[in-house]
Amino acid sequence: MQSKVRDLISNEQWSWPAHWTQKYPLLSCLSVLNLNEEQDQIYWRSYDGVLSMFSVNLAWHSIHPRGMKVGWFRVVWFSQCIPRHAFIMWLLMGERIKTQDKLKAWEKRDHVILLCPFCRNQEDSHNHLFFECNFSSQVWHKILSLCYFSSDPGGWKQTVASMAPLAHRKSVRMVVTKLLLAATVYYLWQERNARCFKQESRSIGKLYEVIYATVRLKIMSLKFKDSDQVRNMKALWRIP
Ligand SMILES: [Zn+2]
Repeated sequence: MQSKVRDLISNEQWSWPAHWTQKYPLLSCLSVLNLNEEQDQIYWRSYDGVLSMFSVNLAWHSIHPRGMKVGWFRVVWFSQCIPRHAFIMWLLMGERIKTQDKLKAWEKRDHVILLCPFCRNQEDSHNHLFFECNFSSQVWHKILSLCYFSSDPGGWKQTVASMAPLAHRKSVRMVVTKLLLAATVYYLWQERNARCFKQESRSIGKLYEVIYATVRLKIMSLKFKDSDQVRNMKALWRIP
């Protein structure tokens, strides 16, 4: 452990211990280092081949597993987003919300009949709970009057897919639509949990009011450049 690189070089040749070269034949292929009096420096070659001074940050980014870049990223995460809403949206996009179809597979409790707490007609799943259920689709119907979807959004995957190519835009329409989408998903999930675990329930109208008030408060905290579009939005949301 005390050996230095210079101890392994004599007469400008490597002098590896014999058992090292037997174990690691590649050692004999290394070109001999040109040693000098300068201080050693530690470098790191990143995953794209760039050599820079070593830092833990750089090394972490090189070895940290990278996920696929997803097209819907900007629909969910944007600077004006409400983080707790964006988080539920993110779980929804990865189909990682613990809806009953997921829990059933997880817990193997086949004997338990799990029903959607909104309609009590079938078990809840991502598609059913957030869009297809009659309760949810009525909430969406009311929300649509505030959004800029040209038609019924269909399913959440289609909705997000249709928004994704335009989601980088900072227009007031896009920001408001993204806020509404995430807020609606968030409050539908909150309502589902209140019904499942607290035996509390709100009507479609009440849920709409909560979504409206939350998004309105957020919009009021944002600054938009004055334009016809912004004035129309303010009139629609009754913002002075
Ligand atoms: Zn339902």
